[in-house]
Amino acid sequence: MAEIRLFLIGSDNFGVLLRDPETGAVATIDAGEAAPIAAALDAAGWTLTDILVTHHHGDHVAGIEALKSRYGATVTAPAADRGRIPAVDRWVEEDDEVRVGALAARVIATPGHTSGHIAYHFPDAKLLFCGDTLFAMGCGRLFEGSPAEMWASLSKLAALPADTQVYCGHEYTLSNARFALRYDADNPKLAARAAEVERLRADGRFTIPTTIGLERETNPFLRATDAGVAAAVGLPGAAAADVFAALREAKNRG
Ligand code: ZN
Ligand code: FE
Repeated sequence: MAEIRLFLIGSDNFGVLLRDPETGAVATIDAGEAAPIAAALDAAGWTLTDILVTHHHGDHVAGIEALKSRYGATVTAPAADRGRIPAVDRWVEEDDEVRVGALAARVIATPGHTSGHIAYHFPDAKLLFCGDTLFAMGCGRLFEGSPAEMWASLSKLAALPADTQVYCGHEYTLSNARFALRYDADNPKLAARAAEVERLRADGRFTIPTTIGLERETNPFLRATDAGVAAAVGLPGAAAADVFAALREAKNRG
């Protein structure tokens, strides 16, 4: 069983450490800032061996060089971000295998938030690290991709097994839940989850990991195929990618 440590970096970036108990290998998923990641490693008594990068944004890469020089960790990053991410040892693309000790992941290309964005799926451990592509009840903004690209990326993630545990890049769940309720008001599973998220955040607790199954049921961006969601954005009968685009536009407006 893989071991995980979850913590905050800054106000809303998630730090995630993944350890393989068999070999003692430890990966950080992204490295937005070195100090809080080093502190989490110290608290756990773990030594960093790998840095798995999802995309080039500063809040995911600014700590790479300091962590690499301190621990000598191997840095893996999306090949499409060559030149935009520092100190990379291995550039990877769709379907490449990445190992953290004995834990094996497959790279999934998820363009949309950025053109080079990737996710790391560990099928045996049933874990997904998806950066700023899929959030709990939300998805990343489209900085470098079209709605159609993002819809295709999200559809790939939604097709993973329902019991896959999902770790995303930000604690945006509460605002995502409130947005979701406006466009999927008749979804009882969403209503229950939104209430639970209100309670968790009031107690200062994290809202992840989520699961692929739960996201399929409650994430409006994955429910662009739903007739009610299509009607709520004023596009009854429209193609899912168009419903998705309208939802993302609405979210951008706040
Ligand atoms: Zn980002
Ligand atoms: Fe981010």
